[in-house]
Amino acid sequence: MLGAIEAGGTKFVLAIGNQSGDILDKIVIPTEHPDITVPKVIDYFKDTKIKRLGLGGFGPIDINQDSPTYGQIQQSPKTAWVDYPLGAVLQEKLNIPIIIDTDVNVAAMSEAKFGSARDVDSCLYITVGTGIGAGAYYHGRTLQGLSHPEMGHIKVRRHPKDTYKGTCPYHEDCLEGLAAGPAIEKRWGKKGDQLADLPHVWEMEAYYLAQALTNYIYVLSPERIILGGGVMKQKQLFPLIRQNVIDMLNGYVSSPYLTKDKIDEYIVSPGLTDEAGIKGALHLVME
Ligand code: ADP
Ligand code: ZN
Repeated sequence: MLGAIEAGGTKFVLAIGNQSGDILDKIVIPTEHPDITVPKVIDYFKDTKIKRLGLGGFGPIDINQDSPTYGQIQQSPKTAWVDYPLGAVLQEKLNIPIIIDTDVNVAAMSEAKFGSARDVDSCLYITVGTGIGAGAYYHGRTLQGLSHPEMGHIKVRRHPKDTYKGTCPYHEDCLEGLAAGPAIEKRWGKKGDQLADLPHVWEMEAYYLAQALTNYIYVLSPERIILGGGVMKQKQLFPLIRQNVIDMLNGYVSSPYLTKDKIDEYIVSPGLTDEAGIKGALHLVME
């Protein structure tokens, strides 16, 4: 038996699974103050026979196993969780090995194993929601280094018609500051789902996201790019992003997947819906 946690900003999914990646039991609890949520997590797992626990968490989170603050949440907008030593607390109370990765890295792993990238050896999973984050999967592992990648905070060139200053508290007009859900809402005065029939909104959005994807293609050369998150429910974004990526690359990277004929097989929606996060977390501790 193995344990898995998908720790998100609004909910925690807790599950027990097996070595084959099957989820045998699952519950969902709201993300409240850590003093309320964490005891519920411990209660759920404490009398089970799990041997290891995998956790995919909202970040920034310390995922460096050699660090004294492994598993500690860093600059979260959820202030009660800032500096909360989630990994250490779970380790102490449950006394089993815990492997931690970011929610987006875990989603990339899950999509590579079971979802839209299961026929290739590398992929990026990008979420465009309350924030923008991306995880990368390469040949059996997720990409980690000094910390985890922070692909949502890259610099992008401003759209010539965009005068909105940006929402990121650290960088103001980084990608997340200009293109995550809250930026769309503040720029246009309405939530994204109420702007569906305004083409200029999605042309600007696609311009920003396509710049990011183009840069990720240059730097990481993934074999597939998966776009998820609330904002990507605007399906008209997909063809706009694909066209912009082709235009921005301007033929520089040679691959049939970066042409008009095949790019819709390259920039795709997630293949897994509800269970991507939790299955990926379980996968962290499967052998
Ligand atoms: P989170 O990032 O918090 O996990 P979501 O991925 O659902 O959650 O992202 C929430 C953001 O996505 C909000 O800013 C919301 O306005 C936006 N959003 C949700 N649904 C839609 C939609 N259908 N069209 C455009 N934007 C949406
Ligand atoms: Zn930023």
